[in-house]
Amino acid sequence: MKIIVANWKMNPQSVIEARSLFGAFKKNSSKKAEVIVCPPFLFLPVFSKIANVKLGAQNCFFENSGAYTGEISPLMLKNAGCEYVILGHSERRRHLLETDEMIGKKIKAALSAGLKVILCVGEQERAGEFDLEAEIVGGQLEGGLDGVKKTQMRNVVIAYEPVWAIGTGVSDTPNQTLQAAIFIRKKIGEMFGRNIGQEQKVLYGGSVTSKNVKPFVEQDGIDGVLVGGASLNAGEFAKIIERVGEAC
Ligand code: PEP
Repeated sequence: MKIIVANWKMNPQSVIEARSLFGAFKKNSSKKAEVIVCPPFLFLPVFSKIANVKLGAQNCFFENSGAYTGEISPLMLKNAGCEYVILGHSERRRHLLETDEMIGKKIKAALSAGLKVILCVGEQERAGEFDLEAEIVGGQLEGGLDGVKKTQMRNVVIAYEPVWAIGTGVSDTPNQTLQAAIFIRKKIGEMFGRNIGQEQKVLYGGSVTSKNVKPFVEQDGIDGVLVGGASLNAGEFAKIIERVGEAC
């Protein structure tokens, strides 16, 4: 089954709008894909009782309780009905200065709390040479997954999101994404063993729309997509779910 993650980022601006967007998602959920919606924290409790669509958060802290003003713990997310949490998104790496070390701590805390992790990795610029891109992605995987147990890796999904493709309208090509996915599986294989590497789920994210999604998910080596901007338009997101269903 392919995976489709909707990252609403810091949108929409009210519960009423969020409810109506989520309602549209619910109607359009698919039997052929696992649809995961990641709204802002504030809206999570509103949706936790709605079936069909799985819930994810966009971040969490690395402790479960304590004096950490403004933070949200993995356990709070679990108790609010979340199954997934996105960690290491490039926007957090950039604006909140999250390091691989911090992301690694968050990953371990989230997995221990029983959440599944969607770890985002990707190079800043299209270097043209895959070796350079691979070095960056490899470093993010090493830093983020250091100390994760082999048995926990079944609860980790990697989202390959080249930063230059996020929100720019310029997506990667399915072929180049496939090369990245192969590299990611090889790297995970080196870290956790060949079998775990081969089974690693890898998604693509970066300017995915209903027009370009199909060739990505038609590749066996690409397990789904992470959709930002296009997930805020219920009609467009419904089409993405439909196209993914056609490709399965
Ligand atoms: C994202 O939020 O990770 C993302 C890929 O955004 P967009 O689809 O808008 O490029």
